[in-house]
Amino acid sequence: MSRRKASAAGRSATRAGARTVSHEVPPRVGFVSLGCPKALVDSERILTQLKVEGYDIVPSYDDADIVVVNTCGFIESAVAESLEAIGEAISENGKVIVTGCLGVREQLIREQHPHVLAVTGPQKYEEVVGAVHRHLPPQHDPYLDLVPPQGVKLTPRHYAYLKISEGCNHRCTFCIIPSMRGDLVSRPIDEVMREAERLVAAGVKELLVISQDTSAYGVDLRYVERSWRDGRYPTSLSGLCGALGELGVWVRLHYVYPYPHVDEIVPLMAEGRMLPYLDIPLQHGSASVLRRMKRPAAGEGALARIERWRGICPDLTIRSTFIVGFPGETEREFEDLLDFITAARLDRVGSFTYSPVEGAAANDLGGAVPEEVKMERRGRLMEAQAAISRARLAEKIGRRLQVLVDEVQPDGSGIARSSAEAPEIDGVVMIEPHAALRVGQFATVRVTASSDHDLMATLAEQG
Ligand code: SF4
Repeated sequence: MSRRKASAAGRSATRAGARTVSHEVPPRVGFVSLGCPKALVDSERILTQLKVEGYDIVPSYDDADIVVVNTCGFIESAVAESLEAIGEAISENGKVIVTGCLGVREQLIREQHPHVLAVTGPQKYEEVVGAVHRHLPPQHDPYLDLVPPQGVKLTPRHYAYLKISEGCNHRCTFCIIPSMRGDLVSRPIDEVMREAERLVAAGVKELLVISQDTSAYGVDLRYVERSWRDGRYPTSLSGLCGALGELGVWVRLHYVYPYPHVDEIVPLMAEGRMLPYLDIPLQHGSASVLRRMKRPAAGEGALARIERWRGICPDLTIRSTFIVGFPGETEREFEDLLDFITAARLDRVGSFTYSPVEGAAANDLGGAVPEEVKMERRGRLMEAQAAISRARLAEKIGRRLQVLVDEVQPDGSGIARSSAEAPEIDGVVMIEPHAALRVGQFATVRVTASSDHDLMATLAEQG
Protein backbone atom coordinates (compact mmCIF):
# COMPACT_ATOMS: atom_id res chain seq x y z
CA MET A 1 0.00 0.00 0.00
CA SER A 2 1.56 3.25 -0.95
CA ARG A 3 0.53 6.71 -0.06
CA ARG A 4 1.76 9.06 -2.71
CA LYS A 5 1.19 12.62 -1.87
CA ALA A 6 1.90 15.38 -4.32
CA SER A 7 3.41 16.75 -1.15
CA ALA A 8 6.28 17.53 1.10
CA ALA A 9 5.81 17.41 4.81
CA GLY A 10 5.84 21.18 5.21
CA ARG A 11 2.84 22.61 7.05
CA SER A 12 2.15 25.96 8.58
CA ALA A 13 -0.65 27.48 10.55
CA THR A 14 -2.05 29.18 7.42
CA ARG A 15 -4.88 27.32 5.78
CA ALA A 16 -4.61 27.60 2.04
CA GLY A 17 -8.41 27.58 1.73
CA ALA A 18 -8.57 30.91 3.50
CA ARG A 19 -6.30 32.65 1.02
CA THR A 20 -7.49 34.98 -1.64
CA VAL A 21 -6.63 33.60 -5.05
CA SER A 22 -5.37 36.44 -7.20
CA HIS A 23 -5.69 36.41 -10.97
CA GLU A 24 -1.93 36.02 -11.34
CA VAL A 25 -1.76 32.89 -9.15
CA PRO A 26 -3.27 29.76 -10.67
CA PRO A 27 -5.58 27.74 -8.42
CA ARG A 28 -3.57 25.11 -6.50
CA VAL A 29 -4.49 21.50 -5.85
CA GLY A 30 -2.87 19.09 -3.41
CA PHE A 31 -3.24 15.40 -4.16
CA VAL A 32 -2.99 12.29 -2.00
CA SER A 33 -2.96 9.03 -3.94
CA LEU A 34 -3.55 5.73 -2.16
CA GLY A 35 -3.99 2.16 -3.36
CA CYS A 36 -3.08 0.02 -6.32
CA PRO A 37 -1.57 0.89 -9.73
CA LYS A 38 -5.05 1.24 -11.25
CA ALA A 39 -5.82 3.90 -8.69
CA LEU A 40 -2.46 5.50 -9.44
CA VAL A 41 -3.32 5.68 -13.14
CA ASP A 42 -6.65 7.25 -12.18
CA SER A 43 -4.73 9.82 -10.13
CA GLU A 44 -2.44 10.57 -13.08
CA ARG A 45 -5.40 11.05 -15.33
CA ILE A 46 -7.13 13.43 -12.92
CA LEU A 47 -3.89 15.36 -12.38
CA THR A 48 -3.25 15.58 -16.13
CA GLN A 49 -6.70 17.01 -16.70
CA LEU A 50 -6.32 19.52 -13.88
CA LYS A 51 -2.91 20.55 -15.20
CA VAL A 52 -4.27 21.02 -18.71
CA GLU A 53 -6.92 23.28 -17.22
CA GLY A 54 -4.29 25.47 -15.60
CA TYR A 55 -4.29 24.20 -12.02
CA ASP A 56 -0.97 24.06 -10.17
CA ILE A 57 -0.31 20.75 -8.45
CA VAL A 58 1.39 21.62 -5.18
CA PRO A 59 3.40 19.49 -2.75
CA SER A 60 1.97 20.44 0.65
CA TYR A 61 -1.29 20.96 2.41
CA ASP A 62 -0.26 24.52 3.21
CA ASP A 63 0.29 25.43 -0.42
CA ALA A 64 -2.97 23.92 -1.62
CA ASP A 65 -6.28 25.70 -2.10
CA ILE A 66 -7.99 22.31 -2.07
CA VAL A 67 -6.91 18.67 -1.59
CA VAL A 68 -8.08 15.62 -3.52
CA VAL A 69 -7.71 12.26 -1.77
CA ASN A 70 -7.84 9.23 -4.07
CA THR A 71 -8.77 6.40 -1.74
CA CYS A 72 -8.51 2.62 -1.64
CA GLY A 73 -11.20 0.34 -0.28
CA PHE A 74 -9.82 -3.06 -1.12
CA ILE A 75 -9.42 -4.50 2.41
CA GLU A 76 -10.27 -3.14 5.85
CA SER A 77 -6.73 -1.89 6.53
CA ALA A 78 -6.88 0.06 3.24
CA VAL A 79 -10.24 1.51 4.28
CA ALA A 80 -8.77 2.56 7.62
CA GLU A 81 -5.76 4.17 5.94
CA SER A 82 -8.00 6.01 3.50
CA LEU A 83 -10.24 7.35 6.27
CA GLU A 84 -7.16 8.43 8.19
CA ALA A 85 -5.75 10.21 5.13
CA ILE A 86 -9.06 12.06 4.62
CA GLY A 87 -9.03 13.11 8.29
CA GLU A 88 -5.46 14.36 7.98
CA ALA A 89 -6.26 16.38 4.87
CA ILE A 90 -9.29 17.93 6.55
CA SER A 91 -7.38 18.91 9.65
CA GLU A 92 -4.38 20.20 7.68
CA ASN A 93 -6.15 21.96 4.85
CA GLY A 94 -9.92 21.91 5.37
CA LYS A 95 -11.11 21.70 1.75
CA VAL A 96 -11.16 18.06 0.71
CA ILE A 97 -12.62 16.12 -2.20
CA VAL A 98 -12.64 12.34 -1.96
CA THR A 99 -12.50 10.01 -4.93
CA GLY A 100 -11.49 6.42 -5.70
CA CYS A 101 -12.64 3.00 -4.56
CA LEU A 102 -13.78 4.01 -1.09
CA GLY A 103 -15.98 6.63 -2.76
CA VAL A 104 -18.61 3.95 -3.32
CA ARG A 105 -19.07 3.93 0.48
CA GLU A 106 -20.01 7.58 0.68
CA GLN A 107 -22.08 7.13 3.80
CA LEU A 108 -19.15 5.66 5.74
CA ILE A 109 -16.93 8.56 4.66
CA ARG A 110 -19.52 11.19 5.57
CA GLU A 111 -20.21 9.58 8.94
CA GLN A 112 -16.57 9.96 9.92
CA HIS A 113 -15.79 13.12 7.95
CA PRO A 114 -18.98 15.14 7.47
CA HIS A 115 -17.06 18.15 6.12
CA VAL A 116 -15.71 16.60 2.92
CA LEU A 117 -16.82 18.76 0.00
CA ALA A 118 -17.61 15.96 -2.46
CA VAL A 119 -17.31 12.19 -2.79
CA THR A 120 -16.98 10.41 -6.13
CA GLY A 121 -16.28 6.78 -6.99
CA PRO A 122 -13.48 5.05 -8.92
CA GLN A 123 -12.80 6.09 -12.53
CA LYS A 124 -15.19 9.02 -12.20
CA TYR A 125 -12.67 11.39 -13.73
CA GLU A 126 -15.18 13.89 -14.98
CA GLU A 127 -16.99 13.91 -11.68
CA VAL A 128 -13.93 14.53 -9.55
CA VAL A 129 -12.65 17.22 -11.92
CA GLY A 130 -16.17 18.67 -11.87
CA ALA A 131 -16.08 18.77 -8.07
CA VAL A 132 -12.76 20.63 -8.22
CA HIS A 133 -14.29 23.12 -10.68
CA ARG A 134 -17.20 23.65 -8.37
CA HIS A 135 -15.15 24.37 -5.27
CA LEU A 136 -12.09 25.91 -6.92
CA PRO A 137 -13.04 27.24 -10.36
CA PRO A 138 -10.31 27.16 -13.02
CA GLN A 139 -8.99 30.45 -14.25
CA HIS A 140 -9.35 31.36 -17.84
CA ASP A 141 -6.70 33.54 -19.40
CA PRO A 142 -7.73 34.48 -22.95
CA TYR A 143 -4.13 35.45 -23.75
CA LEU A 144 -2.64 32.13 -22.70
CA ASP A 145 -5.38 29.55 -23.14
CA LEU A 146 -5.95 28.10 -26.55
CA VAL A 147 -9.31 26.68 -25.59
CA PRO A 148 -12.04 29.00 -24.27
CA PRO A 149 -13.91 27.88 -21.13
CA GLN A 150 -16.98 26.80 -23.08
CA GLY A 151 -14.78 24.63 -25.38
CA VAL A 152 -14.43 24.83 -29.14
CA LYS A 153 -17.86 25.31 -30.70
CA LEU A 154 -18.91 24.86 -34.31
CA THR A 155 -22.21 26.67 -33.79
CA PRO A 156 -22.70 30.47 -33.81
CA ARG A 157 -21.96 32.10 -30.48
CA HIS A 158 -25.60 32.52 -29.50
CA TYR A 159 -26.71 28.88 -29.55
CA ALA A 160 -25.10 25.58 -28.60
CA TYR A 161 -25.89 21.89 -28.41
CA LEU A 162 -25.84 20.30 -24.99
CA LYS A 163 -25.24 16.56 -25.12
CA ILE A 164 -26.70 14.83 -22.08
CA SER A 165 -25.98 11.17 -22.83
CA GLU A 166 -24.35 8.79 -25.26
CA GLY A 167 -25.62 5.47 -26.63
CA CYS A 168 -29.09 3.99 -26.56
CA ASN A 169 -30.93 1.12 -24.84
CA HIS A 170 -33.35 0.59 -27.72
CA ARG A 171 -32.85 -1.68 -30.69
CA CYS A 172 -34.78 -0.12 -33.53
CA THR A 173 -34.44 -2.51 -36.43
CA PHE A 174 -33.31 0.15 -38.94
CA CYS A 175 -30.57 1.59 -36.70
CA ILE A 176 -27.03 0.51 -35.85
CA ILE A 177 -26.22 3.26 -33.36
CA PRO A 178 -26.44 0.96 -30.29
CA SER A 179 -23.97 -1.46 -31.90
CA MET A 180 -21.60 1.43 -32.59
CA ARG A 181 -22.00 3.47 -29.42
CA GLY A 182 -23.33 0.96 -26.91
CA ASP A 183 -26.08 1.26 -24.34
CA LEU A 184 -27.20 4.52 -22.80
CA VAL A 185 -24.62 6.31 -20.67
CA SER A 186 -26.02 9.48 -19.13
CA ARG A 187 -23.90 12.35 -17.88
CA PRO A 188 -24.71 13.17 -14.24
CA ILE A 189 -26.91 16.22 -13.98
CA ASP A 190 -24.41 18.42 -12.13
CA GLU A 191 -21.86 17.87 -14.89
CA VAL A 192 -24.39 18.77 -17.59
CA MET A 193 -25.46 21.86 -15.66
CA ARG A 194 -21.91 23.08 -15.22
CA GLU A 195 -21.39 22.84 -18.96
CA ALA A 196 -24.68 24.65 -19.52
CA GLU A 197 -23.59 27.42 -17.14
CA ARG A 198 -20.25 27.79 -18.95
CA LEU A 199 -22.05 28.09 -22.26
CA VAL A 200 -24.45 30.70 -20.94
CA ALA A 201 -21.56 32.64 -19.38
CA ALA A 202 -19.89 32.61 -22.83
CA GLY A 203 -22.93 34.29 -24.43
CA VAL A 204 -25.12 31.36 -25.49
CA LYS A 205 -28.79 32.33 -25.51
CA GLU A 206 -30.27 29.04 -26.69
CA LEU A 207 -29.36 25.55 -25.48
CA LEU A 208 -30.39 22.61 -27.64
CA VAL A 209 -30.55 19.42 -25.60
CA ILE A 210 -29.48 16.38 -27.62
CA SER A 211 -28.88 12.67 -27.10
CA GLN A 212 -30.08 9.49 -28.82
CA ASP A 213 -33.06 9.25 -26.47
CA THR A 214 -33.61 12.32 -24.32
CA SER A 215 -36.62 10.82 -22.55
CA ALA A 216 -34.44 8.00 -21.17
CA TYR A 217 -31.98 10.43 -19.57
CA GLY A 218 -30.72 9.16 -16.21
CA VAL A 219 -32.32 5.71 -16.25
CA ASP A 220 -28.86 4.08 -16.32
CA LEU A 221 -27.83 6.13 -13.28
CA ARG A 222 -31.06 5.28 -11.47
CA TYR A 223 -31.86 8.98 -11.51
CA VAL A 224 -29.07 9.71 -9.02
CA GLU A 225 -29.45 13.05 -7.22
CA ARG A 226 -26.70 15.62 -7.48
CA SER A 227 -26.11 19.08 -6.08
CA TRP A 228 -26.20 22.09 -8.31
CA ARG A 229 -26.28 25.66 -7.04
CA ASP A 230 -28.28 25.48 -3.80
CA GLY A 231 -30.44 22.50 -4.67
CA ARG A 232 -30.47 18.75 -5.22
CA TYR A 233 -31.63 17.56 -8.62
CA PRO A 234 -32.28 14.03 -9.89
CA THR A 235 -30.46 12.97 -13.04
CA SER A 236 -33.72 12.69 -14.95
CA LEU A 237 -35.46 14.53 -17.73
CA SER A 238 -37.72 16.45 -15.36
CA GLY A 239 -34.77 17.23 -13.05
CA LEU A 240 -32.76 18.49 -16.00
CA CYS A 241 -35.59 20.60 -17.36
CA GLY A 242 -36.17 22.10 -13.90
CA ALA A 243 -32.48 23.01 -13.58
CA LEU A 244 -32.08 24.31 -17.15
CA GLY A 245 -35.19 26.40 -16.62
CA GLU A 246 -33.23 28.33 -13.96
CA LEU A 247 -30.68 29.64 -16.45
CA GLY A 248 -32.90 32.24 -18.09
CA VAL A 249 -32.07 31.21 -21.68
CA TRP A 250 -34.02 29.37 -24.33
CA VAL A 251 -33.95 25.60 -23.80
CA ARG A 252 -35.07 23.35 -26.65
CA LEU A 253 -35.51 19.57 -26.40
CA HIS A 254 -34.63 17.19 -29.21
CA TYR A 255 -35.16 13.43 -29.56
CA VAL A 256 -37.90 12.98 -27.00
CA TYR A 257 -40.19 9.93 -27.14
CA PRO A 258 -43.83 10.17 -26.09
CA TYR A 259 -43.53 8.34 -22.78
CA PRO A 260 -45.92 9.20 -19.94
CA HIS A 261 -43.21 10.94 -17.87
CA VAL A 262 -42.75 13.53 -20.63
CA ASP A 263 -46.13 14.87 -19.44
CA GLU A 264 -44.26 16.33 -16.43
CA ILE A 265 -42.20 18.75 -18.52
CA VAL A 266 -45.00 20.20 -20.64
CA PRO A 267 -46.22 22.40 -17.74
CA LEU A 268 -42.69 23.92 -17.58
CA MET A 269 -43.17 24.87 -21.22
CA ALA A 270 -46.56 26.40 -20.46
CA GLU A 271 -44.90 28.45 -17.68
CA GLY A 272 -42.27 29.76 -20.10
CA ARG A 273 -39.33 28.03 -18.37
CA MET A 274 -38.51 25.99 -21.47
CA LEU A 275 -39.32 26.57 -25.10
CA PRO A 276 -42.70 25.04 -25.99
CA TYR A 277 -41.06 22.79 -28.57
CA LEU A 278 -40.66 19.03 -28.76
CA ASP A 279 -38.73 17.13 -31.41
CA ILE A 280 -40.24 13.63 -31.33
CA PRO A 281 -38.89 11.29 -34.01
CA LEU A 282 -42.01 9.14 -34.39
CA GLN A 283 -40.86 7.50 -37.67
CA HIS A 284 -44.27 6.08 -38.57
CA GLY A 285 -47.99 6.28 -37.85
CA SER A 286 -48.94 2.64 -38.42
CA ALA A 287 -48.91 0.40 -35.33
CA SER A 288 -47.78 -2.64 -37.32
CA VAL A 289 -44.85 -0.80 -38.96
CA LEU A 290 -43.82 0.64 -35.59
CA ARG A 291 -43.79 -2.88 -34.18
CA ARG A 292 -41.57 -4.07 -37.03
CA MET A 293 -39.33 -1.09 -36.42
CA LYS A 294 -39.25 -1.91 -32.66
CA ARG A 295 -39.70 1.76 -31.90
CA PRO A 296 -39.58 3.06 -28.34
CA ALA A 297 -42.97 4.15 -26.96
CA ALA A 298 -44.68 2.58 -29.98
CA GLY A 299 -47.59 1.51 -27.80
CA GLU A 300 -47.96 4.79 -25.93
CA GLY A 301 -50.80 6.30 -27.96
CA ALA A 302 -48.88 9.20 -29.46
CA LEU A 303 -51.97 10.98 -30.78
CA ALA A 304 -53.78 11.06 -27.44
CA ARG A 305 -50.61 12.18 -25.72
CA ILE A 306 -49.99 15.01 -28.21
CA GLU A 307 -53.56 16.23 -27.72
CA ARG A 308 -53.12 16.20 -23.96
CA TRP A 309 -49.87 18.17 -24.23
CA ARG A 310 -51.54 20.76 -26.41
CA GLY A 311 -54.33 21.05 -23.85
CA ILE A 312 -51.68 21.98 -21.25
CA CYS A 313 -49.55 24.12 -23.56
CA PRO A 314 -51.52 25.39 -26.58
CA ASP A 315 -48.42 27.06 -28.06
CA LEU A 316 -46.50 23.77 -28.20
CA THR A 317 -44.66 23.19 -31.48
CA ILE A 318 -44.14 19.53 -32.37
CA ARG A 319 -41.56 18.44 -34.88
CA SER A 320 -41.16 14.86 -36.07
CA THR A 321 -39.45 12.74 -38.69
CA PHE A 322 -40.89 9.79 -40.59
CA ILE A 323 -39.46 6.94 -42.63
CA VAL A 324 -41.41 6.03 -45.76
CA GLY A 325 -41.08 2.65 -47.49
CA PHE A 326 -39.91 0.59 -44.51
CA PRO A 327 -39.65 -3.11 -45.48
CA GLY A 328 -43.09 -4.62 -45.88
CA GLU A 329 -44.91 -1.22 -45.78
CA THR A 330 -48.26 -1.76 -47.50
CA GLU A 331 -50.40 0.94 -49.10
CA ARG A 332 -52.81 0.54 -46.15
CA GLU A 333 -49.99 1.08 -43.64
CA PHE A 334 -48.78 4.12 -45.55
CA GLU A 335 -52.32 5.54 -45.48
CA ASP A 336 -52.30 5.01 -41.70
CA LEU A 337 -49.26 7.29 -41.67
CA LEU A 338 -51.09 9.92 -43.74
CA ASP A 339 -54.11 9.65 -41.41
CA PHE A 340 -51.80 10.08 -38.44
CA ILE A 341 -50.14 13.26 -39.66
CA THR A 342 -53.49 14.69 -40.71
CA ALA A 343 -54.97 14.01 -37.26
CA ALA A 344 -51.85 15.11 -35.37
CA ARG A 345 -51.44 18.37 -37.35
CA LEU A 346 -47.73 18.40 -36.53
CA ASP A 347 -46.02 21.74 -37.06
CA ARG A 348 -42.83 20.46 -38.62
CA VAL A 349 -42.13 17.20 -40.39
CA GLY A 350 -39.03 15.77 -42.00
CA SER A 351 -39.19 12.56 -44.01
CA PHE A 352 -36.81 10.04 -45.52
CA THR A 353 -37.24 7.08 -47.78
CA TYR A 354 -36.01 3.91 -46.11
CA SER A 355 -32.53 2.85 -47.10
CA PRO A 356 -30.86 -0.25 -45.68
CA VAL A 357 -27.88 0.33 -43.39
CA GLU A 358 -25.27 -2.40 -43.27
CA GLY A 359 -25.74 -4.43 -40.12
CA ALA A 360 -29.32 -3.28 -39.42
CA ALA A 361 -31.80 -5.99 -38.43
CA ALA A 362 -34.46 -4.57 -40.77
CA ASN A 363 -32.43 -5.80 -43.73
CA ASP A 364 -33.57 -9.32 -42.90
CA LEU A 365 -37.27 -8.47 -42.78
CA GLY A 366 -37.94 -8.95 -46.49
CA GLY A 367 -40.70 -7.13 -48.38
CA ALA A 368 -38.44 -4.39 -49.76
CA VAL A 369 -40.53 -1.52 -51.16
CA PRO A 370 -39.51 -0.52 -54.73
CA GLU A 371 -37.67 2.81 -54.96
CA GLU A 372 -40.32 4.45 -57.16
CA VAL A 373 -43.06 3.51 -54.66
CA LYS A 374 -40.98 4.95 -51.82
CA MET A 375 -40.48 8.22 -53.75
CA GLU A 376 -44.15 8.47 -54.68
CA ARG A 377 -45.25 7.90 -51.08
CA ARG A 378 -42.75 10.42 -49.76
CA GLY A 379 -44.10 12.97 -52.26
CA ARG A 380 -47.65 12.40 -51.01
CA LEU A 381 -46.56 12.64 -47.39
CA MET A 382 -44.73 15.95 -47.90
CA GLU A 383 -47.59 17.38 -49.93
CA ALA A 384 -50.07 16.55 -47.16
CA GLN A 385 -47.71 17.99 -44.56
CA ALA A 386 -47.07 21.18 -46.55
CA ALA A 387 -50.80 21.93 -46.42
CA ILE A 388 -50.87 21.34 -42.65
CA SER A 389 -47.74 23.43 -42.08
CA ARG A 390 -49.07 26.23 -44.32
CA ALA A 391 -52.35 26.36 -42.39
CA ARG A 392 -50.65 26.30 -38.99
CA LEU A 393 -48.21 29.08 -39.96
CA ALA A 394 -51.04 31.20 -41.42
CA GLU A 395 -52.69 31.10 -37.99
CA LYS A 396 -49.73 33.13 -36.71
CA ILE A 397 -50.27 36.15 -38.98
CA GLY A 398 -50.81 39.23 -36.85
CA ARG A 399 -49.20 37.71 -33.74
CA ARG A 400 -46.21 39.14 -31.92
CA LEU A 401 -43.39 36.66 -31.42
CA GLN A 402 -40.08 36.76 -29.63
CA VAL A 403 -37.29 35.72 -32.00
CA LEU A 404 -33.55 35.18 -31.85
CA VAL A 405 -31.72 36.76 -34.79
CA ASP A 406 -29.37 34.33 -36.54
CA GLU A 407 -28.25 36.52 -39.45
CA VAL A 408 -28.44 40.10 -40.66
CA GLN A 409 -28.21 40.39 -44.45
CA PRO A 410 -26.36 43.18 -46.30
CA ASP A 411 -29.72 44.88 -47.00
CA GLY A 412 -30.47 45.01 -43.26
CA SER A 413 -33.09 42.26 -43.28
CA GLY A 414 -32.92 39.57 -40.63
CA ILE A 415 -33.19 35.80 -40.52
CA ALA A 416 -34.43 34.70 -37.16
CA ARG A 417 -36.19 31.93 -35.31
CA SER A 418 -38.99 31.87 -32.78
CA SER A 419 -39.69 29.11 -30.24
CA ALA A 420 -41.21 27.12 -33.12
CA GLU A 421 -38.02 26.86 -35.22
CA ALA A 422 -34.91 24.89 -34.34
CA PRO A 423 -31.74 25.88 -36.21
CA GLU A 424 -30.90 24.06 -39.46
CA ILE A 425 -33.92 21.73 -39.52
CA ASP A 426 -37.02 23.97 -39.41
CA GLY A 427 -38.18 27.07 -41.27
CA VAL A 428 -37.21 30.64 -40.33
CA VAL A 429 -38.73 34.03 -39.58
CA MET A 430 -37.66 36.57 -42.21
CA ILE A 431 -37.65 40.12 -40.84
CA GLU A 432 -37.90 43.24 -42.99
CA PRO A 433 -34.77 45.43 -43.03
CA HIS A 434 -34.25 47.40 -39.83
CA ALA A 435 -31.16 49.15 -38.48
CA ALA A 436 -31.76 47.80 -34.98
CA LEU A 437 -31.41 44.12 -35.91
CA ARG A 438 -28.37 42.45 -34.34
CA VAL A 439 -27.07 38.90 -34.75
CA GLY A 440 -27.46 36.88 -31.57
CA GLN A 441 -29.98 39.29 -30.02
CA PHE A 442 -33.60 38.74 -29.15
CA ALA A 443 -36.24 40.85 -30.84
CA THR A 444 -40.01 41.03 -30.84
CA VAL A 445 -41.60 40.88 -34.27
CA ARG A 446 -45.09 41.08 -35.70
CA VAL A 447 -45.93 38.36 -38.24
CA THR A 448 -47.17 39.82 -41.52
CA ALA A 449 -47.27 36.82 -43.88
CA SER A 450 -46.46 33.12 -44.15
CA SER A 451 -45.51 30.46 -46.67
CA ASP A 452 -45.36 26.65 -46.50
CA HIS A 453 -42.48 26.65 -44.04
CA ASP A 454 -41.46 30.23 -43.16
CA LEU A 455 -42.89 33.38 -41.62
CA MET A 456 -42.38 37.00 -42.70
CA ALA A 457 -42.37 39.72 -40.06
CA THR A 458 -41.54 43.30 -39.13
CA LEU A 459 -39.57 44.38 -36.10
CA ALA A 460 -41.84 45.47 -33.25
CA GLU A 461 -39.17 46.02 -30.62
CA GLN A 462 -35.74 44.88 -29.53
CA GLY A 463 -35.60 42.15 -26.87
S1 SF4 B 1 -33.24 4.91 -33.78
FE1 SF4 B 1 -33.83 3.60 -32.04
S2 SF4 B 1 -32.00 2.36 -31.59
FE2 SF4 B 1 -31.36 4.05 -32.93
S3 SF4 B 1 -30.63 5.57 -31.52
FE3 SF4 B 1 -32.79 6.07 -31.95
S4 SF4 B 1 -33.99 5.05 -30.33
FE4 SF4 B 1 -31.89 4.18 -30.30
